[in-house]
Amino acid sequence: MISLNRFAGSVSALLKGLGVTLNYIVHPKRVVTREYPENRETLTFPERFRGQVVMPHDENNDHNCTACTLCEKACPNGSISILTTKNIASKRVLGQFVYRLSSCTLCNLCIEACPFDAIRMGHGFEMAGYTREELDLILNKKEGR
Ligand code: SF4
Ligand code: SF4
Repeated sequence: MISLNRFAGSVSALLKGLGVTLNYIVHPKRVVTREYPENRETLTFPERFRGQVVMPHDENNDHNCTACTLCEKACPNGSISILTTKNIASKRVLGQFVYRLSSCTLCNLCIEACPFDAIRMGHGFEMAGYTREELDLILNKKEGR
């Protein structure tokens, strides 16, 4: 049989929860929960939010990556592979920037290691896939640039 103390404790916890709900009803601006997925187009995130590693490109599809491999060396779990090639002037340039989102822990070490500001943490948040291969991403849009 339930003791009086336990019953009183349960009622108290119930009233406390109802109080929180009532507080949010009368103060809707204090609500921090985001509706999802209906509002996915309008969702915004704080600048420091770490979604996934991205490589910004300019209007000519150029980027700042020099294929120096510092990010690859900085990554603690091998989530980055820098594949190089040679351009028309026989200069070593980036062939493919392979990024394995499936193993990335979003630790930011690669971003901090890059001396050319060529990669950053994007704000992507829907990053699921059915196979591991789907999460192997090529971050540069053109090879040899
Ligand atoms: S964020 Fe961390 S785990 Fe992910 S690629 Fe960069 S260094 Fe590797
Ligand atoms: S992203 Fe930065 S650190 Fe990585 S290879 Fe390119 S220039 Fe080097």
